[in-house]
Amino acid sequence: MALHMTENDPQLTNHLDNLERKISILDTLTRISTVLNSSLRLKPLLSALMDTAAHIVDAEAASVLLWDQKSGDLRFAATTAGTTALTGKPVPLEGSIAGLIMRERRAVAVEQVADEPRHYAKIDEESDFQTRSILGVPLISKDRIIGVLEAINKRQPPWTTEDIDYLEILAAQAAVAIETAQLVTALQKANDELNRLDEFKNEFIAIASHELRTPLSIILGYASFLQETNDASVSQNAAKVVEGALKLRRIIEDLTNLRYFEERKAALQITKVDLETFLREVLLDPVAVADAQGHQIEFIPPPTNIEVEIDRGRLGMALTNILNNAVRFTPKGGIITLKSEYHSPTEVRITVTDTGIGIEQEELKRIFGKFYQVEDHMTRKIGGLGIGLSITRALVEAHGGRIWATSKGLNQGSTFILTIPISTVKR
Ligand code: ADP
Repeated sequence: MALHMTENDPQLTNHLDNLERKISILDTLTRISTVLNSSLRLKPLLSALMDTAAHIVDAEAASVLLWDQKSGDLRFAATTAGTTALTGKPVPLEGSIAGLIMRERRAVAVEQVADEPRHYAKIDEESDFQTRSILGVPLISKDRIIGVLEAINKRQPPWTTEDIDYLEILAAQAAVAIETAQLVTALQKANDELNRLDEFKNEFIAIASHELRTPLSIILGYASFLQETNDASVSQNAAKVVEGALKLRRIIEDLTNLRYFEERKAALQITKVDLETFLREVLLDPVAVADAQGHQIEFIPPPTNIEVEIDRGRLGMALTNILNNAVRFTPKGGIITLKSEYHSPTEVRITVTDTGIGIEQEELKRIFGKFYQVEDHMTRKIGGLGIGLSITRALVEAHGGRIWATSKGLNQGSTFILTIPISTVKR
C-alpha cells in the first residue's frame, strides 16, 4: 500500500528522476576520466570530451577552443556534428563569449545570446547552427589557461549551478589530458621532422661519397701508374698525389660509415664463423699498408678452433678500424700484434697492440667519443674524422661485447682490447 502511494507521488517521482540523472552524470564523469587519462591522441580525446560535455548538461552541441601559441589566438579545435565547419577558425578575444571566458578565467552562462552583445554572431552564419544559449568554462591545466569548453543549445534551457559545476569538473580533468596530448603530438611532429632530416642527411652522404669515390679512383689509378715511371721527380710527385688521394679515400670511407654510429643488434646479420679464418681475412687489408710503412705484423691465432656468432662484415669493420689506427699511429718500422684467446668459457678476447705514439691516461676513455681526436684536428698530420673508434665501439656493443684501450703513456705503444661473447644469439 505504501509503495502504491509512493509511485503516484509526483514530487517524489520527480525527485527520483533527478537522482537517477545525477547518478548517470557521475557515472559518465567517472568513465570519461579513464578515457582522458589513457588517450594520448588529441582528436579522439576532444571528441569524447565534447560528447560528454553535451550529455552532462543536456545540450545539443559542444565545442572546444584552444589557445594557439604560434598564431596567438583562440581557435575552434573541435566541434560536434553540425558545426564541424568551424574547426580551425579563430574567434576574437574581445567580442566573443569564449574570449570573455579566456580573459576572465571563469565560467559564463548565457541563456539568450540575442541579448548578449559579446556573442560572436558570425559563428552562427558560418556553421548554420542557430545558437540560442551557451554555457562555457575555462580549460585550466597547471594554473595555465589553455582554452575553453562550451556547451551550446538551439533551445533555451535555464543553466543551473549544477550544470556549471559538472562542466567545470569535466574541464579540469580534460585540460591536463589535452595538454599532455598536445605535447605528445608536438614531440611526434618534431621526431618525424628529425627522422626526415636524418634520412635526407644519409641520402646526401651516400650520394656525395659515391660521386667522390669515382673521380678519386681515377686519380689514384693514374697517379700509381705515374709512380712507376723512371723519371724520379715525376715518380716523387706522383707518390705525393697517391698519399693525398689515400687520405681522401679514408675520409670518404668514414663518411659512408657514419650511419653505423647507432648500430643495433637487430640490424646485424649473424652467422657462425671460425675465429681464426675471420681474423686472417681481416688482416689482409692492413697488412698491405703496414708493409709499405715497414711495420711488422704478428698474428697469434686462438689456441683451439673457436666458433663465434658474429656479423662478419660489421665486426670486420670494427677490427679493421683498430688495426688501421695501429698502423697510422705507429712511426715507421713498428710492430703490430693481433692476438685472440679464450678469456672465459663464454667470451673471446681480441687484442691489438702497437709500438706507436701511445695514449695518455686521461685520453683512454675519451678517444671512443664521437669526433674525438687527441691531437688538434687542424694541426695534426694524420688524417681522419675522429669517428672510427666510436663506430667501432657501437659495432662491438651491438655484438654484446666491450672495447677499451690501455697504454703506458706517450710513445709507449697502445693496446686495444675487444671482447665478444662466444654465443651472441640464442637459437
Ligand atoms: P681518427 O680516424 O680521426 O683517427 P678514431 O676514432 O679512429 O679517429 O680515433 C680517435 C683518436 O684516438 C685518434 O685521433 C687518436 O688520437 C687516438 N688513437 C686511436 N688509435 C690509436 C693508437 N693505436 N695509438 C695512439 N692513438 C690512437
